[in-house]
Amino acid sequence: MRYEEFYQRSIEQPEVFWAEQAQRIHWHTPPQRILDTSNLPFRRWFAGGTTNLCYNAVDRHLEARGGQLALVAISAETGVTRELTYRELHREVNTFAAVLGSLGVGRGDRVVIYLPNIAEAVFAMLACARIGAIHSVVFGGFAAHNLALRIDDAQPALLIATDAGMRGGKVIPYKPLVDAALEEATHKPPHVLIVDRGLDPQMTRVADRDLDYASLRASYEGAEIPVEWLESNEPSYLLYTSGTTGKPKGIQRDVGGYAVAMAMSIEAIFDIHPGDVMFSTSDVGWAVGHSYNVYAPLIGGATSLLYEGLPTHPDPGIWWRLCERYGVRTMFSSPTGIRVLKKQDASWLKKCDLSKLKWLFLAGEPLDEPTAHWITEGLGVPVIDNYWQTETGWPALTLMPGLDLKEVKFGSPGLPAPGYRMKVIDEVTGDELPPNQKGVLVFVPPLPPGCLSTVWRDDERYVTSYFGHFKELLYSSLDWAIRDENGYTTILGRTDDVINVAGHRLGTREIEESVATHPACAEAAVVGMQDELKGQVPVVFATLRQGVTEEAVDVAKGMQQRVVDQLGKVARPARIYVVNALPKTRSGKLLRRSLLALVQHTDPGDLSTLDDPGALDEVRRALERGPEQGA
Ligand code: AMP
Repeated sequence: MRYEEFYQRSIEQPEVFWAEQAQRIHWHTPPQRILDTSNLPFRRWFAGGTTNLCYNAVDRHLEARGGQLALVAISAETGVTRELTYRELHREVNTFAAVLGSLGVGRGDRVVIYLPNIAEAVFAMLACARIGAIHSVVFGGFAAHNLALRIDDAQPALLIATDAGMRGGKVIPYKPLVDAALEEATHKPPHVLIVDRGLDPQMTRVADRDLDYASLRASYEGAEIPVEWLESNEPSYLLYTSGTTGKPKGIQRDVGGYAVAMAMSIEAIFDIHPGDVMFSTSDVGWAVGHSYNVYAPLIGGATSLLYEGLPTHPDPGIWWRLCERYGVRTMFSSPTGIRVLKKQDASWLKKCDLSKLKWLFLAGEPLDEPTAHWITEGLGVPVIDNYWQTETGWPALTLMPGLDLKEVKFGSPGLPAPGYRMKVIDEVTGDELPPNQKGVLVFVPPLPPGCLSTVWRDDERYVTSYFGHFKELLYSSLDWAIRDENGYTTILGRTDDVINVAGHRLGTREIEESVATHPACAEAAVVGMQDELKGQVPVVFATLRQGVTEEAVDVAKGMQQRVVDQLGKVARPARIYVVNALPKTRSGKLLRRSLLALVQHTDPGDLSTLDDPGALDEVRRALERGPEQGA
């Protein structure tokens, strides 16, 4: 079917369309109702149906493709590659599920998973799904404070962690961060299950609390744990993401809707069919990792490559050698990953036989045209920019080569995916704008299957954060966008105080709060400055408390260290300026947009609400002087 027809059906006859798509997965009991919109903006997909993500991702394939590779977990860091068939994956997941059961974890319990891209992360996720426990994977690059916030919100019955990860040949200990997080968190799960990779011989254990996965695995090896059939709208997992406040939001995913969205998108968008090979370079801690490293390729009966390491280590040919070795058909990465490679010799792209590679998808941040051209020419395959959010769980704007490939227009992630009814509206009036005018990208509810069902234990936050912006009930993407006559949409950046560093979403508020924990700090403002490699990087402006005698440069160093320790290296400020005043409105709101304009030498915009014009001069002087601390 062609894209136009597919999309139109999803909009004009959503129930018919999604009932058809629902046949792609196994239902233990079929849905009684395809779509229940009696309580918008909440909606219930496939109400009354029962199913299970793990069953669809693993058990269902045992008969037809039990001997086919399901998961290939490659660590370019340790040099270890693990290849698991569906049958082997089934065994590992059952064993893991038995271990979970032995620790008292059951349906509805939360499990926080703090692991790098190793096979056990996939086993743990699928094992949770199998028994109806709700996993919440926390990105390994996040440090103790971020982990503590998530533990306190999710209140897990168990934390799963490891001794260490590795990056560029360096061991990155995880366990000290776990200990620090559990020190800080109010909620203390009774156990920490440790997948000991033997990378950190200095790892310490807390007696009784910390358990060794390998020993428990040995005790439960070969166990068979029955699948827990869940109602389609029960929560399957939580994935925390940044918003405008310092407190991350627990994006809650359902079971049935998500399974159907995964099954449909892996074929219709990503052109992956049973037996094909998909390589997504994402971390399991991100939305792409959940959907296109774990659930979608497995639900689709494909082989999924999971990769721990950098694109350039041991050399910049590593990704392409993997594509050649495993016959990858669809690759999925981020613009930053490609920009890193672009700094290397283009001949690395030509050394391998990539005849099986058909598509490269890139998502998570804007794809700049020079990078898009460079990689398209280098690989000789279509490069498909797709736009999504942690909230959507799968692409919202994309081209769909699994149906038919529409024209690739560099700079635009393309056309709406099935089920997304989109508009670009005026920020103030909420009226729909004609083509080629900049406005806010919104989705008309109900949101399609797979998108968030709510914010964990905070329905009100779901309604106010996403649907509370306009007179009409509309989901605000919180992104500026412009759409041409043909529906091709271009994303122009966030409308809120969220920044995107190398595809990692960070709230400026979170970084400000972290900087402000420094005893010398009176107040901090963070903006996202444009950066050639990472898209954006955080820049801090801080005022100091009265009577501080410490040198500004030392204070700035201390602030930078705090951010790294509390939030992780991803959030490390590229520059820190110490100033005497910050620009604010008369009502006391920080004028981050004007600050950013000064940093980037653009027009600071409307300054009529500025309380103290001297504050801007102060910032200008600081910029001329140079930062107290650079990256
Ligand atoms: P995250 O929730 O971390 O996936 O971040 C979502 C945000 O990343 C979106 O709201 C956009 O601001 C940005 N984003 C994701 N994909 C794209 C893309 N293809 N083009 C431009 N911005 C993107």
